[in-house]
Amino acid sequence: MVKDSEILNVIIIGGGIAAHTAALYTARADLNPFVIAGYEPDQLSLTTIVENFPGFEHGINGPDLIENAKKQAQKFGAKYIQENADSFNITKSSDKKNDLFEIEAGGKKYVSRTVIICTGASARKLGIPGEDKFFGRGVSTCAVCDAALYKNKITIVVGGGDSAMEETLALYKFAKKVYLIHRRDEFRASKIMQDRILNLNKKNDKIKIIWDTEVLEILGDKTVKSVKIKNIKTNKISEIEADGFFLAIGHNPNTIIFKNKIKLDKEGYILTDKLSKTSITGVYAAGDVQDPVFKQAVTSAGAGCQAAIQAERYIEHLKAEDRY
Ligand code: NAP
Repeated sequence: MVKDSEILNVIIIGGGIAAHTAALYTARADLNPFVIAGYEPDQLSLTTIVENFPGFEHGINGPDLIENAKKQAQKFGAKYIQENADSFNITKSSDKKNDLFEIEAGGKKYVSRTVIICTGASARKLGIPGEDKFFGRGVSTCAVCDAALYKNKITIVVGGGDSAMEETLALYKFAKKVYLIHRRDEFRASKIMQDRILNLNKKNDKIKIIWDTEVLEILGDKTVKSVKIKNIKTNKISEIEADGFFLAIGHNPNTIIFKNKIKLDKEGYILTDKLSKTSITGVYAAGDVQDPVFKQAVTSAGAGCQAAIQAERYIEHLKAEDRY
């Protein structure tokens, strides 16, 4: 049994902008938040310039935005550990008056009165032959991180959303050629991002867009050498030579440890109400892990703020009812 003095007020799981914002707010509310930031980098740490976070007229680099937000939370007393959260369980306080939450990370157990889940989402894979075999050896989910390795090389990006546009732009600066393969005949990306690609595409032949096409297999020896593709309208199968293959087909929410404990939607996103509450009282969620729709840095930060305010109100409520 955990001693009452060891019970934390709030555990925040995650290391992205939602987590840092929740940490900042709960730290300023004197709740001494404890942040379990995992090993996988958050989305903003994998991006370049962020042009749509209000307050930065000339944009800000994603990694700088994240680092600044973390330092800001730490300035007000938020404590961080870098470990993956391995399990989440619900237990009862010693007087059985309210639920407590037990999280295991790095071989230790942490118990808290509230939890804010900000575990984000991880890059989706195609599940095709060669994808795992060549992962890190030509296959990547982050062109922004790896683009410089592909100077004067041939690269492929798969996807039709903003990430695919961004990855293509990142590779365009270095690669000899960037094929952008999309399964439909129009992009899903925002107009401004699409236009950047379509305009470059008009200007020169360094970018080649391949519409209505799926990737069947990634081929190579030690590293990627080519990719087998199929036009889904004509069924024609062909092969393109390539040194790098970049996946930009969206993300899956990181919710494995919450399965069967907290209500998730059919795609695995945590269900929250307008007040950031999950199906469990005292547990809140913010950011990409609960947002299949907007997935923006600014909406994630906003959600982190909401969840923090709710956690603070819940703790006040426990105190008022003599259940703290
Ligand atoms: P997304 O918007 O969900 O787009 C995923 C793309 O991958 C879609 O075009 C989809 O095709 C395609 N796709 C999905 N599964 C596939 C499969 N199995 N095989 C082939 N193609 C597949 O994801 P995202 O681009 O990562 O963007 C996520 C969110 O982050 C969005 O809200 C976006 O606005 C935001 N974001 C913003 C910026 C920015 O503003 N600079 C940058 C990056 C991301 P269909 O279109 O056919 O479904």
